[in-house]
Amino acid sequence: MSAVHDGKRKMVDTMVVRNQDLYRESGAELVMGQGRFVGPRTIEVVAADGGTRTLRGEVVVISTGSRARIDPISGLAEARPMTHVEALDLDRVPGHLVVLGGGYVGLELAQAFRRFGSRVTVIERNDALAHREDRDVSEALRELFKDEGIEVRTGIRVERVEGRSGESVKLHVARDGAEDPIEGTDLLVASGRTPNTDGIDLEAAGVERDGRGFVKVDERCRTTAPGVWAVGDCAGGPQFTHMADDDVRVVRDNLAGIDRTTTGRLVPFCLFTDPELARVGLSESEAERRGIAYRLAKIPVTAILRSRTLSEPRGFYKTLVAADSDRILGFTAFAPEADAVMTTVQVAISAGLPYTALRDATLTHPTMSKGLAALFHAVPDRS
Ligand SMILES: Cc1cc2nc3c(=O)[nH]c(=O)nc-3n(C[C@H](O)[C@H](O)[C@H](O)COP(=O)(O)OP(=O)(O)OC[C@H]3O[C@@H](n4cnc5c(N)ncnc54)[C@H](O)[C@@H]3O)c2cc1C
Repeated sequence: MSAVHDGKRKMVDTMVVRNQDLYRESGAELVMGQGRFVGPRTIEVVAADGGTRTLRGEVVVISTGSRARIDPISGLAEARPMTHVEALDLDRVPGHLVVLGGGYVGLELAQAFRRFGSRVTVIERNDALAHREDRDVSEALRELFKDEGIEVRTGIRVERVEGRSGESVKLHVARDGAEDPIEGTDLLVASGRTPNTDGIDLEAAGVERDGRGFVKVDERCRTTAPGVWAVGDCAGGPQFTHMADDDVRVVRDNLAGIDRTTTGRLVPFCLFTDPELARVGLSESEAERRGIAYRLAKIPVTAILRSRTLSEPRGFYKTLVAADSDRILGFTAFAPEADAVMTTVQVAISAGLPYTALRDATLTHPTMSKGLAALFHAVPDRS
């Protein structure tokens, strides 16, 4: 574990240096410190090395991100649970890690620590893991976890926590009215994120927040204050690095007088479990909720020869194609190399290609991408 810890430390340090170099090369000034607004487009920074500076910008972009939310459950904060920050800095293997939250952060870390040797229990308040995904996706994840020896408890409400993470914790939970405590040695909270918009005096700048604390922005990332923009997690969009990057492009282009908005953009994502889960565009449940008619095709990973050469028989590909045209509406892969395969479909969607373009393409044998031909061959004809 100390080698894992060192490896991670080196990787992060390298990235920090690289980012600092990029800043230096760009000519932008980087001020390290804690900022808060003291007036319209005016920020006071308490520098990390002491001293205070006041900076006023013609344009100000807020990108303060988000942090792990600690829910107001009795005893939870007192138990000093880990968030992803502490979990990613551990140099020991927890004896029994209890993970509060079955979303992407909780799932990735649960599997990682199980594979490092911890006993792991995942607790999710909804009735499914990754509950925003389709049922078959949630169930496939649950089966994966079961096969790896990870205990999954869904539909659970934690009422009270006792003890201290790192020593021993006891979570009093209610399910169907029955008391059934869960005990472990370490507690990881991964049950949602809260925007870093408190304590920065947004009011002084005339920047409003919505009811959940996110900076209010329009489709161009403009806040309610003239000249002030907000991007990334703090602005309430999809919480992914690539979406924060895209917000930045929206701001950059609008400042240059180019018409660009966040409306209708594709939101690809990948859950880095093993195998990965990747999706772009509509899921079945979203299509149903929005009343969008679709044709569905789904194939098991075993139908793709590459899965056999990789000895990875778990998973599936699934696609939604419009009922009245050949437009691809969505693609999900729970499979090895899902991220790369999904990106191929994303590019096809962005280019407005019909699904037949992938169905009929000469795709390299034997790759996971070749499975796309089999998948799109399985799309039913238009009725
Ligand atoms: C465990 C984990 C895994 C993730 N994995 C992925 C992934 O695989 N792929 C993906 O796309 N996304 C992933 N995400 C999400 C991704 O990290 C965020 O969506 C992304 O970092 C958002 O970028 P941001 O610039 O809005 O905020 P951040 O990256 O959080 O940056 C905000 C910065 O602002 C600083 N800051 C805040 N307040 C102040 C202040 N008052 N003064 C000065 N500085 C301040 C913070 O210290 C921070 O450095 C993951 C998140 C977590 C927690």
